[in-house]
Parts: sequence; structure tokens; C-alpha cells
Amino acid sequence: MVTRSEPTVIINARGEDRIRAGHPWIYQADVVSVHAEGGDTVAVRGPRGRTIGRGLFSDRSQIALRLLTHGEGPAGLDLWRDRMRSAIAFRRSLGINANACRLVHGEADLLPSFVVDEYGRHLVVQALSQGTGRLLPDLVSILVDELHPDGILARHDQRVRQLEGLDQSVDVLHGTIPDEVTIREGEIEFGVDLRRGQKTGLFLDQRENRAAARAYAQGRLLDCFSYHGSFALQLAPVCEGVEAVDVSDEAVTRLAQNALRNGLTNVEARVANVFDELRRLERAGEQFDMVVLDPPAFAKSKDAVDKAYAGYKEINLRALKLLRTGGILVTCTCSYHVSEAAFGEIVFDASTDAHASVTVLEKRMQARDHPVLLGVPETYYLKCFILRRVA
Ligand code: SAH
Repeated sequence: MVTRSEPTVIINARGEDRIRAGHPWIYQADVVSVHAEGGDTVAVRGPRGRTIGRGLFSDRSQIALRLLTHGEGPAGLDLWRDRMRSAIAFRRSLGINANACRLVHGEADLLPSFVVDEYGRHLVVQALSQGTGRLLPDLVSILVDELHPDGILARHDQRVRQLEGLDQSVDVLHGTIPDEVTIREGEIEFGVDLRRGQKTGLFLDQRENRAAARAYAQGRLLDCFSYHGSFALQLAPVCEGVEAVDVSDEAVTRLAQNALRNGLTNVEARVANVFDELRRLERAGEQFDMVVLDPPAFAKSKDAVDKAYAGYKEINLRALKLLRTGGILVTCTCSYHVSEAAFGEIVFDASTDAHASVTVLEKRMQARDHPVLLGVPETYYLKCFILRRVA
């Protein structure tokens, strides 16, 4: 029941339709009236007063509401605890061969705007809306009760927090966080800086794609946009030689340290812009058995899509030209603005321009600990195709 004192937001029919179609977000434009403060968990009512459910309200973001429940049921901390338990139990059931993974993946775990990554005995959390920002102390208590971690770090340096009018900071919320934690993925160990590393330290969402790529890896490998070497080092044990390229000095230094830590002597990391490096290698007539392309999101917004397409096409075209016949291209995009179909077209265009015949071995996505919620395209962001150049 909606009591008189309960914070309430009334939405229009279009908003109601959107919820009915399975999407948990209501945009500001579909909000009719607000009797609540930013960060409140509110009753959401339709134009005729019907209670639609309960959700998190933001008074700053374009995303005004993130729905937690449908109908009359409560949306208190018990709900958060139950859903967190279920999210964690699901990850434990996956048999992940690593001591790092995503435990809570926001909307896809019905825990909107809340993310928890596990790095060994440490957790990194992100509260990405006013609502989860407000609930954070309670959510941290739940995590402490459930998992007894040595430390919990908030990585609140994410740009999306600005859209919510929230501050940017990196804070230890519980226990201690060392300067470096040791993470194992498969048989490879990585030194990870949870405070400063990209994302929350590692690109956990590519774990299964790295394992899939390993099944085809051999000979000479080129890992483009290599960061700390997750692909390069995972594939090095089955390759003759690995060359890794990243524009960041710091990333290349850490990659070299990680190679050393694992006793891998066949990995060479260089600081370079991939766009220049691919052209240089082509001019030099170099050939590879496998190329990995794992660029940052070129399309961070809808407006940037055209330019992003050109960028994706360029690197895929150059990479295909560097492949020997029979060689494998592992190519990724992590922009959700670039759909799987659109990415397929980009790669096809690149192959025709490269005069390459290409077969599709696998169409993959983000690892299963980063689930995709059907009906919510924003949760399907990472596409990874494994292709073979047949001629
Ligand atoms: N493959 C990595 C993640 C890559 S993240 C993994 O699985 O862990 C993207 C990387 O691309 C970042 O390290 C960034 O420094 C690098 N980068 C961005 N633009 C680049 C460019 N034009 N040339 C080379 N590296 C670039």
C-alpha cells in the first residue's frame, strides 16, 4: 500500500508502457510529478494513480527512476539482501577459474546502479545513482555480513556519477586495501592496483573470451590495446611469440612486470598508437597467426557512432591484412551503441576492403558474471567475434 508519507513519483502512460515492455528505467521526460527527494526509494504510480512498483529516484539524471519491484511489494533492505545473495550464489555456481569476478552487475541482477567486483579477499563497489549512493552504507554492511572481505573500496571516479550530481572519489569503506593485490586468472597471475587501475582494476568481462581465444592461439600473436596484458599473457604459453601494443606507458610497464612475474619470456610490449602501429607493420610486410583487437569504447555516446564506425573499420581492415591465410582475428567492441549486427557489418566491410575471405568461428559477449538482461540493450555492451581468414 502507498501510505500518505511515502515518497511518490507519478509517471505518464509512455513511462508505464516502457516498464511494461520490461525496461527498468523511466526518463525525466516521462515524469509527471514528484513528491520525493533525490536518492529516495519511491512508490511509482501511473497517470491514473495505479501503483506500478517501487524504485530509486534521481532528481538530476536523465534516468529519473530505476525500478526495483513491480506491484505493491516492499523494496527495502531485505530485498537488496536477497538479490545480492542470489547474485553471489549464481557467480559461485559458474565454476569461474579465477579469484576475481563481478558479483553484482547492476540492472542485470535487478540491483540497478550497483556494481560489486571481487578481487580475492577484496571487494570494489560502485554506487552509480543517487539511490544506491544513499543506500551504500547499508549495502556495504550486507556485503560484510555475507562475504567477510578484508577490505571494500568504492571506485566512485566513474563519469556517470557526475550525471547524478554525485562526487568523484575513491574511498576505503571497510577494512584495508593494499596498493597491489595478486589476482589469478586461469594459470596466470596479475598484480592489480584497485585504486587506480582501469575499470575496477582488471577487464573481468573479457575472461571467457581470453579462454576462448586461447583454443585457437599459436605462432605469432599481436595483442592490440593490450592494457596490462590480459590477452597477451593468457595466450603466450601456447604461442611462439607475443607482441603487445598499448598507447599508455604505464600499462606497458605493468604488462612487462606481469610477464616477468609469470616467467613468460616470449612477450614483447611496446608503447604505440595502434592505428599507427598497424600501418607500420603492414608497410614492413609483417604477418601474424593471430591478432587481438580490444579497443576502448570508441562510441561513448550515440552522436559519436559514425566516427566510431570508421575507427573500428580501420583497425579491423588493417588487422585482417596482417593475418596469414588461416590466421585468427579476435575482434571486440565494448560500446553498447554499436549493436552486434552493426559490428558484424563493420567487420564485413573491413574484410571486403582487405580482400579477405573470412569465416565466423564464434560470436561471443561479455563473461557470464556480467549478464545481459533481455529487453535492456544497455546491458549488452561487449561483443567479441572470433574470425578466421580463409583466403
Ligand atoms: N585488452 C585489455 C583491455 C583493453 S582496454 C584486457 O583484456 O585487459 C583498452 C586499452 O587501450 C587501454 O589500456 C588504453 O590505454 C589503450 N588505448 C586506447 N587508445 C589506444 C590507441 N589509439 N592505441 C593504443 N592503445 C590505446
